[in-house]
Amino acid sequence: MSTETPTESASCAAHPDVIASWACGRCGTFMCPACERRMRPEARPMCPACWDLRTRTVNAPERHGPALPIIGLILGVLSLLPAAVLIQIVAVVVNIIAFGRTREPPNQSLRWMAIAGLALTGVGVVWGGIVAMMFVG
Ligand SMILES: [Zn+2]
Ligand SMILES: [Zn+2]
Repeated sequence: MSTETPTESASCAAHPDVIASWACGRCGTFMCPACERRMRPEARPMCPACWDLRTRTVNAPERHGPALPIIGLILGVLSLLPAAVLIQIVAVVVNIIAFGRTREPPNQSLRWMAIAGLALTGVGVVWGGIVAMMFVG
């Protein structure tokens, strides 16, 4: 009773008049050769519905991409506040991660945010140091 091997009686879910050659490796839907979707020729096929779902899941992280450089930029601005050491540390970490995530399109256009965030944090650290020295001195 395995869904991995096609049965003789099963017909394609999308084409009822066509005998199924495979069952979907994910949901078990029967499909004909015209409905097969594969990542590689030797891979087990998926049904069109699961294929769409998989493609969307793979693309999903990119849609969340822009948030991080924006947070990094905001933290960079906040780290200009005197004695905002904790914010500066968080800003450096977030901007380095954002810098790494904007290495490839479509997030590449947001890379300036990570660079600006890091630059602002650097200014904030120097500025904070000068303010601290003035208070101590
Ligand atoms: Zn499926
Ligand atoms: Zn079919």
